[in-house]
Amino acid sequence: MSDSVNIPEEGIAKDDILEAMRGYREGDADWKAGRTWSLVYYAGEEHYDLLKEAYTMFMSANGLNPMAFKSLKRMEAEVVRMTAGMLHGDEEVVGTMTSGGTESILMAVKAARERAGFLQKWPMRPEIVAPRTIHPAFSKAAHYFGAKMRYVELDEDYRVDVDALEKAIGPRTMLVAASAPQYPHGMVDPIEEIAQITRKKGVPFHVDACFGGFMLPWVEKLGYDVPVFDFRIDGVTSMSADVHKYGYAAKGASVVLYRDMSYLKHQFFVETEFPGGIYASPTMAGTRPGGAIAAAWAAMRSLGEDGYMELAKGAMDAKGELVEGIEALDALEILGSKHATVVCFRSKDPGVDTYALADQLQERGWAFDRQQKPASLHCTVNAHNASVIGEFLADLEEAVEHVRAHPELSSEGDAAMYGMMAKIPVRSAVKMSVRKVMEEMYGKNAAEPDLGSITGDEDSDWMLQLVGRYGDRVLDVLDEVDNVRKRVTRMILG
Ligand SMILES: *Cc1c(COP(=O)(O)O)cnc(C)c1O
Repeated sequence: MSDSVNIPEEGIAKDDILEAMRGYREGDADWKAGRTWSLVYYAGEEHYDLLKEAYTMFMSANGLNPMAFKSLKRMEAEVVRMTAGMLHGDEEVVGTMTSGGTESILMAVKAARERAGFLQKWPMRPEIVAPRTIHPAFSKAAHYFGAKMRYVELDEDYRVDVDALEKAIGPRTMLVAASAPQYPHGMVDPIEEIAQITRKKGVPFHVDACFGGFMLPWVEKLGYDVPVFDFRIDGVTSMSADVHKYGYAAKGASVVLYRDMSYLKHQFFVETEFPGGIYASPTMAGTRPGGAIAAAWAAMRSLGEDGYMELAKGAMDAKGELVEGIEALDALEILGSKHATVVCFRSKDPGVDTYALADQLQERGWAFDRQQKPASLHCTVNAHNASVIGEFLADLEEAVEHVRAHPELSSEGDAAMYGMMAKIPVRSAVKMSVRKVMEEMYGKNAAEPDLGSITGDEDSDWMLQLVGRYGDRVLDVLDEVDNVRKRVTRMILG
């Protein structure tokens, strides 16, 4: 960023503005070409144009006041109804739109907390019991709303261990959550078994279908093996589903649903004493952008079941091809990836480092996620990725050979950093370093995110520096230090 960006004294001409923005965009992920396996959901140019038109038509309208904008109230209600129907809810199922999956989850947690407090007045921090693979939006919600996460480990299929989950539920549990599917490995948690437990214990149960809500129903209809995950299961009390993912809407659209009004009512906020008037708000946002609501409505009406089925078929075919291609490479193995349009894989060859493989693919122009515990790569598959599967597999094969021939790559570039970050036992050190990167990014210099700064430079955290300099040898020492710290803490706290 240049040293001083002020509002220009004189406004700049439209053509120059647009030109400048196109320039800013040059280094961005090239998602229309299908080389991006995350973040963007694209259903073709015609659909894209419709979203643009719908969005701009309501771009300045404000969903905060349903009296002034009845159109938005109506579209929101219809998006909620359509989503409830898709997820097999009956007419009692109610909900709201939100700005995204995170807001939907924040609201579900907030509503559960209010409901729990309302019913029994918690003396202690209420807890959310959820699989280790639950989306971080839950931990963010716990962080914001004064709750605690209680994580449950997985079975060998990356689905939550149901017995362990049952044991984790206690008197402080205000909500149990699980995913359909979880993001890292694309597996649907055993929703039916969990619901049997939550029903018995009388605890609310949220199914996070942010990722899969607009995909699994169609994948199921196509005849693939998809465990039942929605309101058909008695005991599921709330769900979230993102229209801005596989609903192919514009960004800023998700739906949170509840079994009935006795749950949703705890989401609402009302302030009666504001001199500006009595203020009522259903979600986190005050002003609610009309464009996102309108584009979500337009996306669902225009695609229809047949459109969604076709996109789901395209995505599942592409996924199948990808899995087959990866399984054909001896060095690699697929993790999970059974129920959805996700392909998660890693190297099983000790001579081929998974993160070094990632660096090679990235150099060849591919964008995807690097995961940890275990180290793996994650591809979210869309129908429009189909045209590049062959190219991707060819690059992958080449990358495997290259990394095998150059084992030193595992301790160079991003691979070194990701490898180290995943291994460091003292997770608070990792957290501190990442926070430091955020401070740089949002500080006065508005630095570009530099993950490399975590490892080497003088300002980075001393513990990480130590590991960066001396390698794995210090890990045992750090581990021991952490154990001592825990023992001392236990002694002090009794
Ligand atoms: C994307 C996602 C979320 C969070 O949604 P945002 O729209 O990114 O806020 C929550 N859960 C799962 C499973 C997701 O994939």
